[in-house]
Amino acid sequence: MIYNFITNIQSCYVDVPSLLYYSHIPTALTALFFGILILIKGKENIIASRYLFLISLTFFIWTVLEGVLWLVYSSITMMFLWSFLPLLYVLLNLFCILFVYSMVEKKKLPHNLLLYSLALVFPSIIILITGLDLTMFDVPNCQAIENNYTVWYRYFFGASSIIFILVYLIYKYIKSVKEGRKKIILLGAGVISFLTLFSWSEITGSLTEDFSVTQYGFFGMPILIGFLSYSIVKFKTFNIKLLGAQALVWALVIFIGSQFLYMDKMPLSSIVITAVTLIMSAGIGLMIVRGIKREIAIREKIEKLADQLEHSNERLKDLDQQKSQFVSLASHQLRAPLTSIKGYLSMLLEGDYGEVKGEQREMIERVATSANNLVTIVGDFLDVSRIEQGKMVYDWSDFDLKPLVETVFNEQKPVAEKRGIVLNLDIEKAINFKVHADMNKLKQVFTNLVDNSIKYTPKGEVKISLSRPSPSIVRFEIKDTGIGINAQTLPKLFEKFTRAEGANEVNVIGTGLGLFVVKQMINAHEGGKVWAESEGLGKGSRFVVELKAI
Ligand code: ADP
Repeated sequence: MIYNFITNIQSCYVDVPSLLYYSHIPTALTALFFGILILIKGKENIIASRYLFLISLTFFIWTVLEGVLWLVYSSITMMFLWSFLPLLYVLLNLFCILFVYSMVEKKKLPHNLLLYSLALVFPSIIILITGLDLTMFDVPNCQAIENNYTVWYRYFFGASSIIFILVYLIYKYIKSVKEGRKKIILLGAGVISFLTLFSWSEITGSLTEDFSVTQYGFFGMPILIGFLSYSIVKFKTFNIKLLGAQALVWALVIFIGSQFLYMDKMPLSSIVITAVTLIMSAGIGLMIVRGIKREIAIREKIEKLADQLEHSNERLKDLDQQKSQFVSLASHQLRAPLTSIKGYLSMLLEGDYGEVKGEQREMIERVATSANNLVTIVGDFLDVSRIEQGKMVYDWSDFDLKPLVETVFNEQKPVAEKRGIVLNLDIEKAINFKVHADMNKLKQVFTNLVDNSIKYTPKGEVKISLSRPSPSIVRFEIKDTGIGINAQTLPKLFEKFTRAEGANEVNVIGTGLGLFVVKQMINAHEGGKVWAESEGLGKGSRFVVELKAI
């Protein structure tokens, strides 16, 4: 380098700004540490990690040079070191552009663009080699005097970089959605505040020739790191474990906090700035470590659980399907022999094969009852498997409920009488009880409910009523004076296999499937509702079915 204006080496002394160590050492080290960490761990977006490393490295060199410049006294050393700063400044801006591009596009810059941008740096290299940027050394103020043109070239470069990044990110923001937008905001906020603070302090320093203001420019780095760390943990931008980000934030806090060790040498302004920065960094630290840690933990847990759940869900569905198919097959297979057993038994009882009397008749009657129960059970199993496989077929029509209820009543009356129960029917005086429904299914529902009431009423009365509580509702109701249902069982009554306390004593053969089928069938009707009420054990029950009137 040719510094022909230096004829003899001068020495000079200058007041070291109070913020010097604080602004240089922790930021330089943190930046380097962060850059290396990203380079090692940031496998997800290798190109961006490399550019970020280059930013950190350039920043580190710049910071070290800048710091050393305050401490050396020899003019020749100062001029030599100073001449590197413009190149580093330009490189820093360029790396920021390349970093932003590779973060957003997740790919390398096209070769020709890379060449153009390197061409932009070329003047800085010329300036460095020729020593054009420094015109003379100002001994009284102990600083190099910079060439105005090269200063303006440098800052034009800096301003253009910021504007370019801003415009590019706004364009990308508009074109992307949700999560992509958040990433762009974090990236933009970090890079732009870093470059702006950096350029602003440099420009102000150069223009006013008061270089102590450049100290503030270094605070841009922690801001950039802060935003990038947040982005890393929030979006796993570089897929670094939370631990890395945690260590980083806390290292930063410790670095800043360590400044208080020199408190007695610090002016009040530095103490205030240090305290504010410390509080802010600790705030960011807490926010990152606690909030995001929890968020990430929850997210990972949810992802894992969702994965497991999906897995077991698939398996369960499979098993359920297999079970339903098995039940359906078994029930079908049972139905045919049962029908023939029932047929032969009734022929026997009717005397087709000779008169059956006394004990023999009693035995055959018992077998016939058991066969009938078995038919009901097999029917229930078949219904359940049809419901679960979504294969229940409904045959819709418009009809009046009155004749249907009367039929059920007439069929069940002898059964009730046989058990010593009084079965009553009360049909309200109304124009009609018309509904849009499946007649056979409703007959099955009503028969089941009446049958239950008879079964679970050892003595007393069972009363069926049909009414129109409102113009849009037809209500079928059955009330008994039977064993009742306790409050704990009531909410589960319509679930599969629910059998209330005491049910076994009154009616041993029961599956707990009847009411499940009832509920599914009624729910399949538009506006259909069914529920049970009971004041408790021994206090009777009331079952209500409501359908939409037409
Ligand atoms: P099952 O009668 O085969 O046990 P259901 O599904 O028809 O199955 O009934 C489920 C349970 O509801 C019965 O076991 C019984 O405990 C209770 N239950 C049903 N109807 C009545 C009723 N009228 N009074 C008292 N308990 C009843």
